[in-house]
Amino acid sequence: MAEPVGPCAGCSEPIFRDQDHLAVRDLGRLYHINCLNCTNCRDNLRGPFSLWEYQDPLCDRCLEERSPRCEECHNPVSDMKVRTKFGYFHPDCFVCTACKFPFINDQEKTYYNVDGRPFCHRDAMEEVNRPVAPSGHQFQETHVREGF
Ligand SMILES: [Zn+2]
Ligand SMILES: [Zn+2]
Ligand SMILES: [Zn+2]
Ligand SMILES: [Zn+2]
Repeated sequence: MAEPVGPCAGCSEPIFRDQDHLAVRDLGRLYHINCLNCTNCRDNLRGPFSLWEYQDPLCDRCLEERSPRCEECHNPVSDMKVRTKFGYFHPDCFVCTACKFPFINDQEKTYYNVDGRPFCHRDAMEEVNRPVAPSGHQFQETHVREGF
């Protein structure tokens, strides 16, 4: 009997070289081809799949379910997203309240939170200079961070 190449991370049984198996390199784990299942629904993962937060293998359906929704278009944001104090957005969906310019296209990737709404620099300045209630404007400058 040949030496096993390692234990299966799914069923804990040894995997032998002549058995169909998969190495999930990002996890540093080996699986029998039938033992790599979606962490959530237990569907077998045959095609490409995703790793949630780099540890749980998930089928596309479950990944979509677990992903936060974009505040603008309400579709799941599973790949590139920006996390803001206004919630999650696709990079292209996070835009100035006034002119709809996507902040991700801004050279400085900066947006301005005026009274709880995101504005580009120009519109933020206009907004701030607008006369308001005696309490004044709430104003904060923030950089957009892209990430997973
Ligand atoms: Zn197995
Ligand atoms: Zn699933
Ligand atoms: Zn969106
Ligand atoms: Zn603007």
